[in-house]
Amino acid sequence: MEPIWNEWVENLKVYEPGRPITEVARELGFDDVEDFLKLASNENELGPSPKAVEAIRNQAAGVYRYPDGGCFYLKRKLAAKLDLTPEHLLFGNGSNELIVFLGHVFLGPGLNLVTGECAFAVYRLVAALYRAGVVAAPMPDLTYDLDALLEAVTPDTRLVAVCNPNNPTGTAVGQEDLDRFIERLPGHCLAVFDEAYIEMMPEDRRPDLMRYVREGRENVLVLRTFSKAYGLAGLRIGYAAAAPAVIGLLNRVRQPFNVNVLAQAAAEAALDDDAHVERTRTLAAEGCRTVAAALAELGCETVPSVANFMLVRVGDGGKVFEQLQRRRIIVRPMGAYGLPDYVRVTVGTPEQNERLIEAFREISE
Ligand SMILES: *Cc1c(COP(=O)(O)O)cnc(C)c1O
Repeated sequence: MEPIWNEWVENLKVYEPGRPITEVARELGFDDVEDFLKLASNENELGPSPKAVEAIRNQAAGVYRYPDGGCFYLKRKLAAKLDLTPEHLLFGNGSNELIVFLGHVFLGPGLNLVTGECAFAVYRLVAALYRAGVVAAPMPDLTYDLDALLEAVTPDTRLVAVCNPNNPTGTAVGQEDLDRFIERLPGHCLAVFDEAYIEMMPEDRRPDLMRYVREGRENVLVLRTFSKAYGLAGLRIGYAAAAPAVIGLLNRVRQPFNVNVLAQAAAEAALDDDAHVERTRTLAAEGCRTVAAALAELGCETVPSVANFMLVRVGDGGKVFEQLQRRRIIVRPMGAYGLPDYVRVTVGTPEQNERLIEAFREISE
C-alpha cells in the first residue's frame, strides 16, 4: 500500500488492557477457563446489581431499535440523583470515550495536557491522538501533587487531568487541596477530575466536586463510570458532568448513538441499587485491608489504597506477573507506568483474595 495515511498515526501507541482469561488460558495451554482468576482490570467481583441484570433481560428483545441518542430517561434520573440538570450531563461509551471527546474539543498540535506521571494511561494516548503534548508532573509518594500540577501548566495547557482516586496507585487527594487547586487554576485550562472509583471511597474521605458543577463553575469537569463500582464494564457506559456550555461542545463531537440500549437500561436500574454499591465499597475496603496485612507478613509493601485495587512492591513486577499467571491468576505488571518493581492487583471476594495471598506465599518461598 502506498503511504497514503497520516504518518503520525503510525507512532500512536495501543492501550494494553488487562489480559482476558480466555487469551491467557489459550496461551498457557489450559482448556478450562473456570479456574482462572482475573484481578487485572479493577472489575467489581460482586458483578452487577441483580436489578441491572433484570433490566438487560427485559430490554434484550428491544435491541433491534436504535438507542435513544440523548439518553433522555437516564439523564433525567441521574441529574435528580446528583442534584444537577440534564444539561449538565453527557453519556459516553465508557468514560474512555468522553476522554476522547475532551481531546477532540480542547486539544490539538501546539497544545498540551497536564497530568501526574503515574496517571491513568488513556490521558496520554488521547493527547497523542490529537497530536498534543503531555506534561507529566511528579507524584511524590505516588500521589498527585496539585501544586506540582499547577507549576507544570504552560500558556498552551488546555486540560489538567486528576484521577481521584488515581489508577494505578489507588491514592486520593482531599477536599481542601482540591478546593485550593480549583481556585488557583488559570482560566485557559479545564480541570478534569476522573472519579472512576469515587464510589469505592469511604464516605468521610470522599471529596465533593459536583458542587462546583452545580454552582456553575465553567472550568471544572467530573468524569464517572458505571464500569467499576456499578459492575457494568462490559456494557461501556460513563458520564461527564460539567457546565452546560462545556457539555454542549462535547455533545457536538459525539456520534449519534454512542450509548447502546442495554447499557442505558442497566445503568438506570443500577442507580436504584445503592445497597449494591455499598456492599461493593465494603468489599473493596475489607479486601485491601486483608490483602495488605497478609502481604506485609510476607515482606511485601503495598501502597495504601482507597479503591478496589492496590500496588504491591515485589521487586521484579514482570517476573511476579508471570509467576502468578502460571498459577492462573492474572494481575497487571506496571512497567508501562514507570513502576517496574510493582504489580497492581484488584481485590475481590474473600475467597479470591485468599487465593491471591496463597499464591504470593508460594512465590515468596
Ligand atoms: C477504568 C477507568 C476508566 C475507564 O472506564 P470506562 O468507563 O470503562 O471507559 C477511566 N478512568 C480511570 C482512572 C479508570 O481506572
